[in-house]
Amino acid sequence: MLVSRKCQEEQLQNVYATPVMGSVASDEPIPQYTLPENPLAPEIAYRLIKDDLIDEGNARQNLATFCQSYMEPEAVKLMAETLEKNAIDKSEYPQTADLENRCVNIIADLWHAADQDDFIGTSTVGSSEACMLGGMALKFAWRKRAAEKGLDIQARKPNLVISSGYQVCWEKFCVYWDIEMRLVPLDKNHMSLNLGRVLEFVDDYTIGVVAIMGITYTGKYDDVEGLNNLLEEYNNSHDLPVYIHVDGASGGMFAPFIYPDLKWDFRLKNVISINTSGHKYGLVYPGVGWILWKDKQYLPTELIFNVSYLGGSMPTMAINFSRSASQIIGQYYNFLRYGRQGYISIHQRTRDVAVYIAAEIEKTGLFEIYNDGKNIPIVCWTLRETANKPWSLYDLADRVRMNGWQVPAYPLPENMADCIIQRVVVRQDFNMQIATQFINDFNQAIKELDAAKLLVHGEDTGNKGPSGFIH
Ligand SMILES: *Cc1c(COP(=O)(O)O)cnc(C)c1O
Repeated sequence: MLVSRKCQEEQLQNVYATPVMGSVASDEPIPQYTLPENPLAPEIAYRLIKDDLIDEGNARQNLATFCQSYMEPEAVKLMAETLEKNAIDKSEYPQTADLENRCVNIIADLWHAADQDDFIGTSTVGSSEACMLGGMALKFAWRKRAAEKGLDIQARKPNLVISSGYQVCWEKFCVYWDIEMRLVPLDKNHMSLNLGRVLEFVDDYTIGVVAIMGITYTGKYDDVEGLNNLLEEYNNSHDLPVYIHVDGASGGMFAPFIYPDLKWDFRLKNVISINTSGHKYGLVYPGVGWILWKDKQYLPTELIFNVSYLGGSMPTMAINFSRSASQIIGQYYNFLRYGRQGYISIHQRTRDVAVYIAAEIEKTGLFEIYNDGKNIPIVCWTLRETANKPWSLYDLADRVRMNGWQVPAYPLPENMADCIIQRVVVRQDFNMQIATQFINDFNQAIKELDAAKLLVHGEDTGNKGPSGFIH
């Protein structure tokens, strides 16, 4: 039986008059797996969901992520006010489309696309989508070149060459597109792409080599200039050229400001496409990414589609169709608001904090620093065997978590998997004051672990005493 409209309204009004904390809805667990029958007052729904998320930890103490956990209130306001704009609707929101285009141009300039270069690029949801596009372009372009040169392209699987410190999106790309992933192993002396070995993995079926600017595990930059020179030699003596895509998810928006003289971008002849995550050192909330090709010739036309735009048409090459344009607008806000000098000052300060943290961790004498925060502002270290501690980095991670810090410990990839490292990613909202607090807590955690009798991840010491820490 249908409840009368009037009765329904009265019920709703009662709900509105109820204090949130005294509401019936607050008196019971919220429905989780089925759609609730009746509406809730908005402020009650807001509070219930907000509180449901309460135990997730403070994003700013999450030192595991590269993703931004702070934006200026004006940026947040602007983004909240533009959530309804659909980034793909170029003709409905032509001004928004223009902002995206401005961002692509600004990034092309940051990455030194030359005047004569006919660059093309797009925003994406993040670097994963951008890498997918970069990889697809490599594959399509290789196939065309290879067929023209008369290579039997069916004879073998095409391959992609990358260091074993790759981010998982490249594995996805290779699985989705049936590409053989050729991993140049990292080792103790080569914590980024090993230039001494990379050419062993390259042949006529290589669609490209990916250089990583900011290996996710360790923060190291691949030597892109060295790779460019190697491939230049290779290309001069082979029929089928091999080009470089740079995965600059983190470094692509960091190096241009802090290492303006480091050549890793379109200044290098064989670098033909680059991706970055706007939501990492582009300083935007997730998710926005970017990919640019140095020249249209490297983006096969099959991958370009047209959408209508102001009565005409506009090229699009992103995989996703509809999504909010607010992140793109947030990116443009940052560019306009900070300018080059603003990005330099933020990144420089962020780097100072990383260098400070690395120095303090080194001072304990217990750890070997693998990355000292200078490339991208991440610090990573391993526990020295000579430290001779009964606890591991996993115990330390648990212990600093008690002060809210999320500092993950994890194994390195592939043939270095027996090496456990711990990593801190420093972001703009982690200032020197917070860093000193973190270091205090970190040192205190070490003291407590040293004094502890029972270790959650430790070896069984046979101690049958009361569980917990004994101070
Ligand atoms: C973070 C990261 C990615 C994935 O980027 P998303 O923007 O999170 O999709 C890819 N490659 C590298 C090197 C990364 O650090």
